[in-house]
This record gives sequence, structure tokens and C-alpha cells, in this order.
Amino acid sequence: MNTTVNIDPAEIDKFSALAPRWWDPAGECKPLHDINPLRLRFIARYAPLKGKNVLDVGCGGGILSESLAAAGAQVTAIDASNAAISVAKLHLQESGQDVSYHCTAIEEFTSRTTEKYDVITCMEMLEHVPDPSSIIASCSDLLKPNGHLFLSTLNRNMKSFLLAIVGAEYIMKMIPKGTHDYSQFIQPAEIESWLRQADLSLNKIKGISYNPLFKKYSLSNNIQINYLVHATPT
Ligand code: SAH
Repeated sequence: MNTTVNIDPAEIDKFSALAPRWWDPAGECKPLHDINPLRLRFIARYAPLKGKNVLDVGCGGGILSESLAAAGAQVTAIDASNAAISVAKLHLQESGQDVSYHCTAIEEFTSRTTEKYDVITCMEMLEHVPDPSSIIASCSDLLKPNGHLFLSTLNRNMKSFLLAIVGAEYIMKMIPKGTHDYSQFIQPAEIESWLRQADLSLNKIKGISYNPLFKKYSLSNNIQINYLVHATPT
């Protein structure tokens, strides 16, 4: 595919506008900060990280990338937003972590690297691209035969529409209005078929639930809203 096609410029602009506040734990990216320990725990449950070659796709300001590096991984991280990558690079000076950041789309990155990765993560990004199956195919190309792919996205059903859009954007104002487009949400069966087409198989799927009363997230078996996927090469 044409490497520039699988980017929605309006989506990239949205994230670029957020970039200066990416590391504000009380700002618009608060949900990403809050769920980060959970997704790291999910990843570490299935894949060793210490000394491993990890690629974080659609890394934004680097919340997950830095925590993967802190867990001992050698992290490369890519994002199509220049502003997000600038913020991510700048934050390394505060955190002292070591991450190699690049502003690029994964299809382009894949076409110019021969490197293969032990672990690839692509979190909260698939619902922002025109063709998520192409992202998964590129991840598969970059994975070592015994590697691990971790994805997260939002499910598409009435409940996710009400909670992730009406609730989170309009009622509780947890994230900016217009962050998500319901039609871009992805059902697990769709992910499963894209994985299969890319010679990957879905090993585990786990939900991230939010308790609005205690304002707490937890890993759960409810995959109706936000969910995490672990896949491995077949
Ligand atoms: N993965 C990070 C950030 C999620 S926000 C985290 O979970 O903490 C989604 C990110 O995907 C944004 O930074 C946006 O710029 C990026 N993105 C969207 N479309 C992209 C594409 N086609 N290629 C690379 N990055 C993309």
C-alpha cells in the first residue's frame, strides 16, 4: 500500500494539539496515565521485557514507551505526529529513560528497516487509522517468529458508544470532545480476522473496566468497552 495513505491527517492534528499536555497526569491524557500500569502488567504477564527489543507503534508522547524502557526493554517508538514525538523526546530529559523515537508511519518504517522485534505494542491507535488491518500486517512483518504483539482499542457496540463517547467525552469530560469516532471502533472478531490474515493468532483478550464511583481502572473479563489483546505468530 502507499505508505502515506494509512494516516488520517485530522486525527494526527488532534493528537498534535494535545502534545504539550501529554505528560500532565491531570490533563486530557489522564486516562492513558491511569491505565498505563494495567497494560504494562498485561504485557509483562505474557512477554519478558528485560533486554528485549521492543517497538511501540503510535507511541504519542511516550507514556507506554517510557514504562517499557523502565522495565528494562530496549525501546524504539514511532508516531505520525511530529509534535507528539518532540514532546516524547523532550520528556526523556526529565525521566532519564532511554527510548529511540521516530516520526513515521509503521508502513514506512517497515519498508526501511531489517530489524525484528521481540515485542510490539500498538495501544489506543488502531481506532484512529483508515486501515487498521494494514497496521497489524506491518506489525506481523516486524515481529520475530517467537515474538509477542499487544494491541488495545475500543469495542463497537451500544454500551461503548454510551460510555466511551457520551460518558467520557460529554458527561464526565475525561477526554476532549471528538477524541473518538464511534464508526472507527473495532470489534474483537474484526481484530481476530485481521490477525489471522497476518499469520498471527489471538492468545488472550482482556478488558479494562472503569469504576466511575472510585475513579479506578482495573483489568477485567468485560471486553465491551476498552480491551487488550495478546497475539503471537502462528
Ligand atoms: N499509544 C499511546 C498513544 C495513543 S494516542 C498510548 O496509548 O499511550 C494515538 C496515537 O496514535 C497518537 O499519538 C497519534 O498521533 C498516533 N497515530 C494515529 N494514526 C497514526 C498512524 N497512522 N501512524 C502512526 N501513528 C499514528
